[in-house]
Amino acid sequence: MTEAKKARKARRITILGSTGSIGVNTLDLLEFAARRGEAEFQIEALTAHRNVALLAQQAKKFRPRFVAIGDEALRDDLDAALAGTGIETGAGPSALEDAAARDADWVMAAIVGAAGLHPTLRAAKRGASIALANKECLVCAGDVLTAAIAEAGGELLPVDSEHNAIFQVFDFERPERVSRLILTASGGPFREWTRSQMAAATPAQAVAHPNWSMGAKISVDSATLMNKGLELIEAAHIFPISHEQIEIVVHPQSVIHSMVEYVDGSVLAQLGTPDMRTPIATTLAWPDRTPSPSARLDFAKIARLTFEAPDPVRFPALRLARESVAQGGVFPAMLNAANEVAVAAFLAGNLKFLDIAGVTEQVLEQAGRRNGPARLSTLDEAVAADQEGRRLAALAVAARAAA
Ligand code: NAD
Ligand code: MG
Repeated sequence: MTEAKKARKARRITILGSTGSIGVNTLDLLEFAARRGEAEFQIEALTAHRNVALLAQQAKKFRPRFVAIGDEALRDDLDAALAGTGIETGAGPSALEDAAARDADWVMAAIVGAAGLHPTLRAAKRGASIALANKECLVCAGDVLTAAIAEAGGELLPVDSEHNAIFQVFDFERPERVSRLILTASGGPFREWTRSQMAAATPAQAVAHPNWSMGAKISVDSATLMNKGLELIEAAHIFPISHEQIEIVVHPQSVIHSMVEYVDGSVLAQLGTPDMRTPIATTLAWPDRTPSPSARLDFAKIARLTFEAPDPVRFPALRLARESVAQGGVFPAMLNAANEVAVAAFLAGNLKFLDIAGVTEQVLEQAGRRNGPARLSTLDEAVAADQEGRRLAALAVAARAAA
C-alpha cells in the first residue's frame, strides 16, 4: 500500500451541514470511496439545522460519534430518533461548535450562510484541514478565518468549483507570475431573460438552475449573479492576488470551472462535468487523487464552449460585490448579510426578485455613511458588521413590503 493510501486510512471526518446538497454529496462520495477500498474513515460528527429525519438517517448509516442539530427546539426529536444507538447528541448553536471542536482531521464546512462562521472557525483553530464550501464565511470574515487557519497550521481546501479549479492550476510558489484569475459563471436561469421578465420571477423559477443542483440560497444567488460576486471576494481571500486581477466571464455550459492566466499569456483551466463530487474528491484526497462517481466529459457531445461578458444592467450584484471588496472593512460582511436577508425574504414570497440587489445596494449606501474599521481583523468586528447588515436589510425589506 502506498504512503498516501495509508495516510488516508487514518481520516477522521466531520461534516458541518451534512443534510444539505454539499453534505449529501460528500457522504455519497465517502461511501463510494469506502466501497472501492480507496479510503477508510471514521465520521466524527454530523450537523444539520432542522432536518432531524435526514440527520438521524445519516447517523444510523454512517455511525458518527456525535450528531448536532442547530435548532435547539428539535433536541428531543433528535434524541428520540437516535435513542438506543449510543450516538451522542447535542442541540443549539453551541452544539454545532462542539461538533467542530471534536478531533476530526478533515472538516467539510458546508453550512449555508454566515451561520457557518463560528463552527468553521472553531475547526480552523484546531488546525484541521478545512474543505470549504461555505463561501459566506470568507466573505464575512475572510481575514479572521484565513489567519486562524495559518496560525493553527491547518489548510484551506476550496470546494467551490471555481476555486477548486483555480487551486489545481495556481502556482503558489510563483504567485507573482499569475496575471489574472478568470472565474466562469453559468449565467444562471435568467441569463437570457429581459429585466421586465426578471422583475416578475418567482422563487421556483429562480431556484431552477440550468446546470447544477444546489441548495435554495445559492441557487437564488446564481440567478442574481451575487454568487459570482461572493466568489470574487472568496477568491481574493484564498489566492495571493488582488481582487482587481479577478475577472468574470459567463460560460453557459459550465464545463470550464475557472482559469488562471500567467504573465506569458498561458491560460490553465480545470474542466469537468457539473458534479460537486469531483471538487469534493479533490479536497478529500489532496494532494493525491481519489476516484469519484461523477460523469465524464464527452467533448464531441458538448461540441462547443461559449463565453460572454456578464450584463451589468440586469445583474447589478457583480458591481456591488466589486465595490464592497474595493472598499474593504465592513462592506463585504454587510453585502453578504444584506443579501442573505433579501434572499430569504424573496424565497418566503416577501420581496421581488430585482429587489434582492436593491435591498443590498441600499444597505451598502447606508453603511457608506458610517465609519467602520478599515479591515475586519477580529471575529467581534465581523459579527458586528454582519448583524448591522442584517438589521438594515430587514428594515429595507419591510419598507418595500409596506410600499
Ligand atoms: P443547502 O441549503 O442544501 O444545505 C445547507 C446545510 O446547512 C444543511 O445541512 C442545513 O441543515 C445547514 N444549515 C442551514 N442553515 C443553518 C444554520 N442557520 N445553522 C446551522 N446549519 C444550517 O446548501 P448547499 O447548497 O449544500 O450549500 C452549502 C454551502 O456550500 C453554501 O455556502 C453554498 O454557497 C456552498 N456551495 C454549494 C454548492 C452546491 O453545489 N450546492 C456549490 C458551491 C458552494
Ligand atoms: Mg461556485
